[in-house]
Amino acid sequence: KIRERRKVCIYLFNNVSPKEQRAEMAAKLRLEGKVAVITGGASGIGEAAARLFAAQGANLVIADIQDSLGHSVSASISPPGRCTYIRCDVREELQVAAAVALAVDIYGRIDVMFSNAGVVGSMATILDLELGDLEAVLAVHVRGTAAAIKHAGRAMVAAGTRGSIICTASVAAVQGGYSPVAYAAAKHAILGLMKAAAGELGEKGVRVNCVSPFGMATPLWCRGVGLSPEDVEKVASEAAVLKGAVLRTGDVAAAALFLASDESAFISGHNLVVDGATTMVSTSLNYALQNHFA
Ligand code: NAD
Repeated sequence: KIRERRKVCIYLFNNVSPKEQRAEMAAKLRLEGKVAVITGGASGIGEAAARLFAAQGANLVIADIQDSLGHSVSASISPPGRCTYIRCDVREELQVAAAVALAVDIYGRIDVMFSNAGVVGSMATILDLELGDLEAVLAVHVRGTAAAIKHAGRAMVAAGTRGSIICTASVAAVQGGYSPVAYAAAKHAILGLMKAAAGELGEKGVRVNCVSPFGMATPLWCRGVGLSPEDVEKVASEAAVLKGAVLRTGDVAAAALFLASDESAFISGHNLVVDGATTMVSTSLNYALQNHFA
């Protein structure tokens, strides 16, 4: 009886039955009417996100430094005109500001910033680290992310948009041992930026979150470690706690889509780790025991 009354209440307030409501939600594209900027959108996770966001109704600006790739990805996204490419080196604040301004000029607004551009950078250990190489990695990840949050945040606040800013961090932002030291430092800093910005921008209705992927076979890691995509996937799958699934760019794009959409309307300041529980479970004692008894 209570359930029936609840249904009547929902019907009266919304003028649609729960069944109709579910059908309406299923029919609606998840980013319908939204505008997104994706840095590092010419390749890997960014490209997968660009295709997924567009398929879910978003208009897009891809901002990257790989011009021919960026133009071809942008041109292959349909319908024509849904996606625009701009050359944008995220280390240059004015170029990031220009990418945001372009989205507003062409599509009228910005609802989503996916700050995702990245490099592996120096592979040195702390004992051999050239501090100039550390600065080079920080410039892409930390300056780039700060500029993306700042300029997307400004445009959202100015327009009164309840926007969503998503930054790609990494499992290397959660634990040591996943990457070279410079990359780990940069990714930890992205978490700090995200948390502080979520605090400040929350007051204005803007959400800021991170996605933190485990290793996957994109040009960044294949080039970085000098392995083929097949070998990267093999090594990553062996190291992952979750078995029977291989992490692909589409999985990370799906996590970013959730954070970009209104489905996550009350989620801010969160680091959505996409790692099949790998950073949650310590396997080192297990390995030590197995080796001891082997
Ligand atoms: P990718 O190499 O396929 O994509 C990175 C993109 O960033 C490229 O298109 C590149 O041109 C662009 N880029 C690099 N420097 C730039 C700059 N200064 N300005 C603008 N664009 C720039 O690699 P990916 O794996 O898709 O990387 C995307 C993000 O995911 C990065 O932030 C990376 O650190 C992060 N990440 C990757 C993995 C992984 O295993 N592949 C794991 C965790 C986090």
